[in-house]
Amino acid sequence: MARVVILGAGISGHTAALRLKRRLGHGDHTVTVVSPNANWNWIPSNIWVGVGEMTKDDVVFPLAPVYAKQGIAFVQARATAILPEGDASDATGAVDVEYTAPERAGETERLRYDFLINATGPKLNFGATPGLGPGGNTVSVCTADHAVVAAGALKQCIERMKAGERQTLVIGVGHGTCTCEGAAFEYTFNVEHELREAGVRELADIVYLTNEHELGDFGVGGMVFSQHGFETTSALWTASIFKERGVNAILAAHVERVDPGVVAYELLDGTRHELRFDFAMLLPPFRGNDLKAFDRAGNDVTDTVFAANGFMKVDADYSAKDYDEWRAADWPKTYECQAYPNVFAVGIAFAPPHPISRPRKSPNGTVISPAPPRTGMPSGIMARTVANTIADRIRSGDAAAAHTASMAQMGAGCIASAGTGLRSGSAAGMTMFPVVPDYEKYPTGRDIRHTRGELGLAGHWTKALLHKMFLYKAKAKPFWWMIPE
Ligand SMILES: Cc1cc2nc3c(=O)[nH]c(=O)nc-3n(C[C@H](O)[C@H](O)[C@H](O)COP(=O)(O)OP(=O)(O)OC[C@H]3O[C@@H](n4cnc5c(N)ncnc54)[C@H](O)[C@@H]3O)c2cc1C
Repeated sequence: MARVVILGAGISGHTAALRLKRRLGHGDHTVTVVSPNANWNWIPSNIWVGVGEMTKDDVVFPLAPVYAKQGIAFVQARATAILPEGDASDATGAVDVEYTAPERAGETERLRYDFLINATGPKLNFGATPGLGPGGNTVSVCTADHAVVAAGALKQCIERMKAGERQTLVIGVGHGTCTCEGAAFEYTFNVEHELREAGVRELADIVYLTNEHELGDFGVGGMVFSQHGFETTSALWTASIFKERGVNAILAAHVERVDPGVVAYELLDGTRHELRFDFAMLLPPFRGNDLKAFDRAGNDVTDTVFAANGFMKVDADYSAKDYDEWRAADWPKTYECQAYPNVFAVGIAFAPPHPISRPRKSPNGTVISPAPPRTGMPSGIMARTVANTIADRIRSGDAAAAHTASMAQMGAGCIASAGTGLRSGSAAGMTMFPVVPDYEKYPTGRDIRHTRGELGLAGHWTKALLHKMFLYKAKAKPFWWMIPE
């Protein structure tokens, strides 16, 4: 009998749990999911909750009934430490958890595992910027609850415009090292769409505040798109949308502080500025969830297992290299923890070896460049890959080869959509390949690391369709496995 413990029930953890259970069947092997939240959240649709187009109930559902039906154990708790060599009493790997379920809140337990998947996603590090986030002076759409508050603030802003007041709306990222610019970009144009629908667009100044040094960087150093046989850059394509919709952009900015109604930021040239706002949605930087790790003797081995940013070190090349020296092959393929091969990290939880966008610093030494994007599709693929590896090893022994899925050989798809209805709204569909471009393939010129992509018009309802499809899959409804991760 093998015990698999999965930490986290987001896109990657939930995918891994469903896949493993399907591969292992209903025999003696156990799959246990540990997650602090009772609900699953389809995070991409939080954008629509944040503009009032969807409710929280549209984007979350309780996990317990789905897991009960699938024969997966659910522990509503937060993992605090892993003990990959076990402890004095038992050499089997273990994880310490602290319950968050109301009836057991605060209780702790040590769970044993034969295989562990760390799928704990990001810690939303609002604390990195004073005044950032829901506890401070800006709103967020990172969780469904945050998005509900954002929708309320946007509604008030629209009411003030209806009363004739001019408003400044600032949307973007709240630190020089943020990732997830795609989500900020999409929220910007959903807000713009809502303002037009409300008939108040002309009273709004919308500002996109970003750490990208040019529009369309999206944390991958930009893309080259093919469209109808022509090639265009994501910088040009994105700039044309900003122009068309009358949205101003402030580029290469590190938000230093947010006071009530005022954001203070530094630019790449080292100058410092302030921007007054009536509504601000700024995403936080991400870091790992700060799990600790201990060896069998109880020594702290956190630095061996986790990178300084709190993400787990896996089978990547983490040696220090100049930006121009790294190769796509440095990115992980199996997601096995280097120190402990029965421990894996998938989705946002693994530590990326290098930035993809060229790192930049202001003359003051402030890092202002996007971190690599950590999107849903690769997260699901990694989860499926690791679940297959573990299922093979349970069935055939530890010598079974690991399945592989490198972001350097993986494409990603994205639909950036504004509006949810069938008749109003707009969207662009992008496919990109690979997510991590290979320097060696393009050894000359400025575009060497640019990911290549296809660009097309998508129906704005396509994303609403995907929303329904992925919720159907996540709820493990009949034939859910036929929808790809
Ligand atoms: C606003 C927004 C919009 C986005 N839109 C898109 C999009 O359109 N397309 C796209 O591809 N991607 C999008 N993304 C990115 C996408 O949401 C992430 O790539 C994806 O959620 C990552 O999956 P994950 O499983 O790694 O992390 P998550 O989905 O964040 O899941 C992490 C899980 O771990 C749990 N957890 C946290 N700490 C612990 C702990 N200590 N112990 C146990 N469990 C823990 C959490 O509760 C959660 O269940 C968006 C992100 C945001 C914020």
